[in-house]
Amino acid sequence: MVGVPPDEQQPSVTATIAIAAAEGFAAVGLTACLWAASAAAVETLYVQEGAVVPGVVCDRSRWLALGGTACPVCGRPMRATADVIGELAAAVLAEGGSVRTLRAARELSGQLTACTLRYALPAAGRRHALR
Ligand SMILES: [Zn+2]
Repeated sequence: MVGVPPDEQQPSVTATIAIAAAEGFAAVGLTACLWAASAAAVETLYVQEGAVVPGVVCDRSRWLALGGTACPVCGRPMRATADVIGELAAAVLAEGGSVRTLRAARELSGQLTACTLRYALPAAGRRHALR
């Protein structure tokens, strides 16, 4: 792959953003990465160092979101968290993915997170298909 050093198994964050822009197997932005992690689709997660954002988590379904009260998967109340990015990283690691922290803000083009995907995500509007 262009721009990826030979010793790298995963696309660089720059390549990840390019892949996402081409609507390939990558996602950029916290909302998209939370959705991807909820679908257990994240291969490698890139996180801006020091980024902390509150959100909600369903501990039963591993659903992650920025807000909401009831889990869209199981309907149970979701737990509020002060650091949904931390929950996101833990979920990615639990699914066998990897997490990389980025120090320079410009690498993520101002976004807090980006990720590469194991497979194409179901469309956000079809999330009920995950039941
Ligand atoms: Zn749930």
